[in-house]
Amino acid sequence: MTTHYRLACPVCGRIYEDDHYLLSCPSGCNGLLRSVYDAVRLQVRDAPGLFRYKDWLPAGGTLPTDAAPVCYRSVGLAEAIGLTNLWIVFSGYWPARGAYVTSGSFKEFEAYPTVVRLREHGGGIIVVASAGNTARAFAQVSSETGQPVIIVVPAGAQSRISTTRPAEQLLLVTVDGDYTDAIHLGSLLSTIPGVVSEGGAKNIARRDGMGVVVLEGTRTIGRIPDWYVQGVGSGTGGIAAWEAGIRLCADGRWGNTLPRLYLVQNQPFIPMVNAWQQGRHTLIPDEDMPDPERSITAVFADVLTNRSPPYAVAGGVADALEATHGRMGSATTTDAIRASALIEETEGIDPDPAAAVAVAGLINAVHEGTIMRDDCVLLSITGGGYRLVRDRIVKKPDIVLEKDYSESEVIVLVTGWVSRYA
Ligand SMILES: *Cc1c(COP(=O)(O)O)cnc(C)c1O
Ligand SMILES: [Zn+2]
Repeated sequence: MTTHYRLACPVCGRIYEDDHYLLSCPSGCNGLLRSVYDAVRLQVRDAPGLFRYKDWLPAGGTLPTDAAPVCYRSVGLAEAIGLTNLWIVFSGYWPARGAYVTSGSFKEFEAYPTVVRLREHGGGIIVVASAGNTARAFAQVSSETGQPVIIVVPAGAQSRISTTRPAEQLLLVTVDGDYTDAIHLGSLLSTIPGVVSEGGAKNIARRDGMGVVVLEGTRTIGRIPDWYVQGVGSGTGGIAAWEAGIRLCADGRWGNTLPRLYLVQNQPFIPMVNAWQQGRHTLIPDEDMPDPERSITAVFADVLTNRSPPYAVAGGVADALEATHGRMGSATTTDAIRASALIEETEGIDPDPAAAVAVAGLINAVHEGTIMRDDCVLLSITGGGYRLVRDRIVKKPDIVLEKDYSESEVIVLVTGWVSRYA
């Protein structure tokens, strides 16, 4: 068991050992447990990829990988949008810049430490229900490490699940339905003994893994930035940035002011923007996301369409915005498409649609005067470089389910597969 961190509950204040992949406070509080690391001063380790930040990751060991964020000062985009101190932290595949995130997004920073954390806390088979980047990240990590993973996706998203190596320990289940149906099946499968749900925003390995973008950015810039800009669906990356900021402030070498969060959603699906702009710390589904089915189909970046983000929970997005004096912003699909072309033209890389939404939101924030010309801005290009990845192997589904599938039959099938690894 690793002992370089404990878990703190933001509600009752109790401190716990992470003795069995804890996802919530054993006292039953409704809050996100946060990791508290022994190392107050960050030491960058001689370890593979993002594991260079292992002092602040809930993993004792490492895995071989080159995946890590890369930060540089923008010239082209900065000029185009009128900023003098814009830094891009890129989480994707771009060998010319030293970026080797082969699944193409910062979700891979979550997947690696999650696999290590699970192995160090009882082990098991991870089940992930996702419509895209998270699933591909876990598929890639499975293909590279042999970690058995079950992925459940809506049938329409099947072609997004690809790896650069054969994924032999991956079980891909497609279900005729949408993301909500995939989540339902994912939680059903997590009841099979030996199968563990990765945990989403509650998983400290997910948040601290995403937090490395802020660590890399701050070290490259030489200070904590004034703003951290990201496109959000769940907002977990925003929470992660806040938590990384807290640790950086305690370290003290890069300043002691938290980066202000500027989190962007894609119109017309903007529940957290609506809630925050009305000064609410809770979401009211009917008001904040009216007609979600329709608005979800109208966005450019569908990874940003989470219907139950960890917004109101203690230690969640609303708390992160409040603590950092943050803002929520939005961008239309038209703006995002234009921003995508602008990034290609000025920076020379194809961005994930969610990163284009972040840039479109940043442009709006500069126009409105929320973000000022000389502010130090860390822009998270959360994914991209898909076109540069060669030889993708699209995973064939192992189990294809129709709408009216029998739950008990699926359990039997998946249990059979699981028993190979028990
Ligand atoms: C998941 C994702 C996001 C949104 O992340 P949050 O969980 O909302 O912080 C942004 N960009 C990309 C590329 C993603 O895959
Ligand atoms: Zn508690």
